[in-house]
Amino acid sequence: MRTIEEMFKEMKKIAREEGYKFNPHKVELQDILQGMWDNEQRYGYPSCPCRIANGELANDMDIICPCNYRDADIADFGSCLCTLYVNDEWIAGRMPKEPVPERRPQEYYIKGYPSIKEQKGAGGGEMVEVYRCQVCGYLCAREEAPDLCPICRAKKERFEKFKMK
Ligand code: SF4
Repeated sequence: MRTIEEMFKEMKKIAREEGYKFNPHKVELQDILQGMWDNEQRYGYPSCPCRIANGELANDMDIICPCNYRDADIADFGSCLCTLYVNDEWIAGRMPKEPVPERRPQEYYIKGYPSIKEQKGAGGGEMVEVYRCQVCGYLCAREEAPDLCPICRAKKERFEKFKMK
């Protein structure tokens, strides 16, 4: 079982490589990391500390940190929903530190994250591709491969297009 310090060390390494920054306020940062670490102990994966997880990996795929919504939230509001990841404007106070609205569809809290088949069949078949992480086998349906595998942290280059049978 990794410690909080070990977990954050891994996160920092990836964030450095990817150009992401963390909340500079030590107490806030520690609270967020503690919540994420607690979730990792509880569920076996580091689900978002400011969202209620379902507890089934397949249902929570989009809210394993870093979640699917991080980049859009940072672009629009300067921080992710939990204010774990922030940008320079947010740090410098050039962006208002207002609560970030939840971008995750509410239905995902009820039904869980849609399976790949559901996403492909829900009118998104032409828009999304299924990508597979060649390192751990994680599958996701998106317009493009994620920057980072939420399970094993492999980089985008390690994803391949996956053909559904
Ligand atoms: S990146 Fe997403 S999952 Fe991670 S702390 Fe921020 S909002 Fe939560």
